[in-house]
Amino acid sequence: MSKKIPEALRREVAIRAGYRCEYCRRPEVDSFIRYQSDHIISRKHGGRTELSNLAHTCPICNNAKGSDLATILDDEEKLIRLFHPRKDNWFDHFEVLEGEIMHKTEIGEATIKLLKLNDIDRILERVDLIAAGLFP
Ligand SMILES: [Zn+2]
Repeated sequence: MSKKIPEALRREVAIRAGYRCEYCRRPEVDSFIRYQSDHIISRKHGGRTELSNLAHTCPICNNAKGSDLATILDDEEKLIRLFHPRKDNWFDHFEVLEGEIMHKTEIGEATIKLLKLNDIDRILERVDLIAAGLFP
């Protein structure tokens, strides 16, 4: 999805994010895999390749999000939009408790669910990052 994003723009997105995934906040510095520029609103839905629609993402979040913009929470008919890194403040929607990302809002809950932010491997890795002073 991100192959057509110019390198200079990708770099600008990464610098703005402080080289950290804008969904799970995992730092890129500790990763073996290069992070990607995600279209927050995918091109499929009319999103443009411009700074205001791009987020720096780890491959796990980017792959889990795909072109999705929202999801439905358990037992609800209501469509809940995902966290929007350009419009939302991460700490308004999430908090971290012993490596687990807890939601403060439905948007946070929807994002945790769809992006699988609390898969056990991700929680364990986060505990290590917290111990190393690299998270959140
Ligand atoms: Zn991530």
